Amino acid sequence: MAEVYIALGSNMDGPHDQLDRALASLSTDPNIELVAVSDRYQTPPIGPSQPDYINAAAQLQTTLSPESLLDRLQFIEQQQDRVRTLRWGPRTLDLDILIYDNIVLDTQRLTIPHPRMAERAFVLLPLADINGDLALPSGKTVLQLLANCSVQGIVKSNAEKI
Ligand code: ATP
Ligand code: MG
Ligand code: MG
Repeated sequence: MAEVYIALGSNMDGPHDQLDRALASLSTDPNIELVAVSDRYQTPPIGPSQPDYINAAAQLQTTLSPESLLDRLQFIEQQQDRVRTLRWGPRTLDLDILIYDNIVLDTQRLTIPHPRMAERAFVLLPLADINGDLALPSGKTVLQLLANCSVQGIVKSNAEKI
C-alpha cells in the first residue's frame, strides 16, 4: 500500500459539488482508501483571469502504481466534464498527485512530487490540515514550505457554496 496525497481544485459549475463528487468517486474505488480530507479554501486563481477556486487536499492509501493512479484521477476529471483549453484556465475539476510515498519521478507524463507544490499556498494550506509535518523527499516539511509562501487572499470555505 502506498501513502499518497493529492490536491483537488475546481472553479466551474459548482466547485463544492465538483469536489464532493470527486471525493465520492475516490472513496468508492476498490483500489483506493480515502484516509483524510482537508478543509476547503477559496483561493484567487493563478494564470488567466477567471473565478476563484475551491481547493482541498486528501490523503489516500492505494495499491495503484503512480501511473495507474493518474489514469484513475484523469478518468474522474473526464467524468466531470474537464475540458483542457488554456493552460491554467478555468476547470470543473483538477486532481493532481502531490506525493506518492517517498517516490521521486520525472517522466513525460508524471512528475512527483508535484513540481509546483512547494510554492503554492493553495496546495500547502490544505495539506497542512492533514499533516503539516509531512516531509517531501527534499526533507522540507509542508509547514516549512508554507512559511515561505504568501497566503494572501486565501480564506476557508467549508460552509459557503460558490
Ligand atoms: P499544474 O500541474 O501546474 O497544477 P494543471 O493541473 O492545470 O497544472 P493539467 O492540465 O491538469 O495541469 O495536467 C497537465 C499534465 O500534467 C497531465 O496530462 C499530466 O500528464 C501531467 N502531470 C505531471 N505530473 C503530474 C502530477 N503529479 N499530477 C497530475 N498530473 C501531472
Ligand atoms: Mg493542477
Ligand atoms: Mg492537473
